[in-house]
Amino acid sequence: MTALDLQRLRAEGQAFMEAISRESYLAFAGLKKTAELRPIYEKYDHVLGIEALELTLDAFRSAANNTDDKRSAQSLLEWEIESQAAKPLAELDEREIEWENTAVIRSPDGRVIQYQAVPIEIANTRDRALRLALDEARAKLVKKEHGPLRLERLQREKEYIESLDIAGDYNASFEAVSDISLDALGTLCERFLRDTESMWEDTLAQVLKKSLGIRSSEAKRADGLALFRASEYDDAFPAGEMEAVMRRQILEMGIDPTADGRIVFDVGDREGKRSRAFCSPVRVPEEVYLVLRPHGGQSDYNTFLHELGHALHFGYASPDYPFEFRWLGDNSVTESYAMLFDHRMQDRGWLLRYTKLGTNKVGKFLRTAGVEELHFLRRYCAKFLYERALYSGDVRWSELPDLYVSLLTSATGFEYDPADAFVDVDPRYYSARYLRAWQLQSVLNEELTDRFDVDWFRNPSAGPWLARELFAQGQRENADEIAARAGADKLSFRPLIRKIEALLDA
Ligand SMILES: [Zn+2]
Repeated sequence: MTALDLQRLRAEGQAFMEAISRESYLAFAGLKKTAELRPIYEKYDHVLGIEALELTLDAFRSAANNTDDKRSAQSLLEWEIESQAAKPLAELDEREIEWENTAVIRSPDGRVIQYQAVPIEIANTRDRALRLALDEARAKLVKKEHGPLRLERLQREKEYIESLDIAGDYNASFEAVSDISLDALGTLCERFLRDTESMWEDTLAQVLKKSLGIRSSEAKRADGLALFRASEYDDAFPAGEMEAVMRRQILEMGIDPTADGRIVFDVGDREGKRSRAFCSPVRVPEEVYLVLRPHGGQSDYNTFLHELGHALHFGYASPDYPFEFRWLGDNSVTESYAMLFDHRMQDRGWLLRYTKLGTNKVGKFLRTAGVEELHFLRRYCAKFLYERALYSGDVRWSELPDLYVSLLTSATGFEYDPADAFVDVDPRYYSARYLRAWQLQSVLNEELTDRFDVDWFRNPSAGPWLARELFAQGQRENADEIAARAGADKLSFRPLIRKIEALLDA
């Protein structure tokens, strides 16, 4: 084999990513029985070896700051580390997927329920005693089987990353290659939790009493699932119209929803197709799949909008950019575009124009959306603070479950179960990407409103601007750079707090 250089790493890295992505698309869309990933890893072994890691590490260390060379080297290094760490963990992942696909619990009324369907079952159970018993059976199985699997994965991943010796420990390595300050984000999360604490206490007490007839002091996480399963509005979001409605909105925004045919809407029903919508960028930007099985309802619309945001981002990426700017980079960016679209479910004008909610129901719907947004954000802030402690190594593994329960319970007001301490963790700090995406999404919404008015989503100038100024850039810039370009001095939770207050007053 000839020596590896950056040019070759880019070409073969892209071929590797395309192969993995196509295989996953075929399997998750039900076009193939299983994903055969290991032969792909074998075929591209040389782009995931020690030579490739050293090459990207050298490029990263020698590139001058604030240049495209630095951005490029950083993206390649981050991707190289993640892909290499994924290789030795693949066996554990396969074991976990197999376990999840076959595990069942027995409900107190004698039914056998698939492990993966238990959260939905809990959310739909109105009888509180049965709901709590279901959750207890779930937690028991997690403690015995799923938790230990995930604990082993977390320990091995931490050891592997630290063995690469990028920086002092896991957290320092993450900061070095991601340019995200864990302490700065942690401080923002702590402040957000403080600033919204009394607002959350009051709101939660009211909705718990009204919807479930219980007091805050007795609320458990299973009650939270039931509370946020708001099915009363599902008629306003019909399955049959979903795709047409979304296409119409993007057209009204002045761009082609298929990006000149590059985005394929895979909406056919077939056996083996995942029930949740997803976006598969098989070649960026030439071949992007938006896959769904339309069920209708509020959460289906939400997911469709989210995945549509990803699809538009990939489908309008500039074909002239190198592999790393189109495929890699700070995922806070693509998540922020996805959230920019899914947050239309909190937008009065959008809801009135594209759904059947109507003026009578829209106010109440928005207030509920505000409660959910506040809960979800507080949960994610606590999750991030917990994950930072977990990866720091400062807390013993055996003591983490207690810390998990105390952080998550005090942030959300729902009592969490220690059994979930290792299964409720986003790998590689994806929680940090989501939190930054949330922040950036609100900056972008404010910028779009300044430029194109509150109904920017139907302004024919807004789409071309989004495609040109944001989507075409791929993930060349990180979330902080895009926020700065939009005129925000720093990413923060302040615009989100303003938005939540407005929703709760709707
Ligand atoms: Zn996403």
